Amino acid sequence: MELSIIASGSNGNCYLLQSAGASVLFDAGKSFSETARRMAALGKDIRQVDGIVLSHAHWDHYQGIGPIARRLHIPVYARKEVYAACRRGLGSIDVRHFEDEFIIGGMEITPVETSHDVASCGFVVGRFGIFTDTGCVTYRMREVVRDLDAVLLESNYDETMLMAGPYPVSLKERIASDRGHLSNDDAGDFIRRYGDHLSQVFLAHLSETNNSADKVRETFECFNEDRPYVVCSRYRQTGTFRIKE
Ligand SMILES: [Zn+2]
Ligand SMILES: [Zn+2]
Repeated sequence: MELSIIASGSNGNCYLLQSAGASVLFDAGKSFSETARRMAALGKDIRQVDGIVLSHAHWDHYQGIGPIARRLHIPVYARKEVYAACRRGLGSIDVRHFEDEFIIGGMEITPVETSHDVASCGFVVGRFGIFTDTGCVTYRMREVVRDLDAVLLESNYDETMLMAGPYPVSLKERIASDRGHLSNDDAGDFIRRYGDHLSQVFLAHLSETNNSADKVRETFECFNEDRPYVVCSRYRQTGTFRIKE
């Protein structure tokens, strides 16, 4: 299986997973043309995509979905309440609802509960997990990570930068709450306690105002020198990586 990190950050998220049976976008928070351009830079053709899976109804995850799905005539997979929360923003699309495990082409996708200020989930495909937009590490995340080989994990903010930064207090509190985002320390703690067996870790969804790639590297470099940590870029496609199935 191959993971291509097209976009990651509070300014747009989009990940392409390709297995023998299917090419699937997880979220599409960039425009059709920007997504196509970044995919092309990685040698991927956007017309190969078989479907788009939506994690939750926040703009940075769904703003490109309507245009991409309509241009390519492909279905969008979303939970009922997630679709209901952003149906206007998505416009006319072929939506397929899921609750539990579902299949696109030959790809089996299992939703995993996350904890956010709207209905949301992460996903497991084979031995790979995508966990972003969660204010805390949920019981299900801890449970499923045992069988995974690689994770794409949110590392949204540095606690000191958030608290000293320009956001209003109410927004700071929302981000740091159990229904907000994971800090670098939260992500580090998760990997240290539950993810020591993982062979690849991608650190994702960095905040522009409250984090930096250097801060994320500092947090992670100290605990396992053997494992490569990839810090996803907010500004461009990060790359394509082989993932064990
Ligand atoms: Zn987000
Ligand atoms: Zn969100």
